Amino acid sequence: MEVILVSVQPEQERVSETGCWCCGGRYPEAELVRLGDHPEVGVCLRCARWLQRRALQRFDELHPSPAALVRSGIQAVRATVIRRGWHRRGALGAVLRWIDRHLP
Ligand SMILES: [Zn+2]
Repeated sequence: MEVILVSVQPEQERVSETGCWCCGGRYPEAELVRLGDHPEVGVCLRCARWLQRRALQRFDELHPSPAALVRSGIQAVRATVIRRGWHRRGALGAVLRWIDRHLP
């Protein structure tokens, strides 16, 4: 009796990797945020955070308040750090990036 071995190939996994519409980078679906009315548009988590900061900055410009003033000061410090490249300096850069992750 002849035995025929048939191997079943697993269905090719669909890797839903698409690009970020902001930076153009390629990311898996889990690392993209989709727009509600335009789900074809995906933004990576890093760009989504950047957009959130830009939106908050715009909101603060339109609605001045003491909290907006504090956030504006934080943004000015952030811009100075980035302009001078301090965020790329070894241990100092690591500390500055850690602080940045916890700021609005
Ligand atoms: Zn992006």
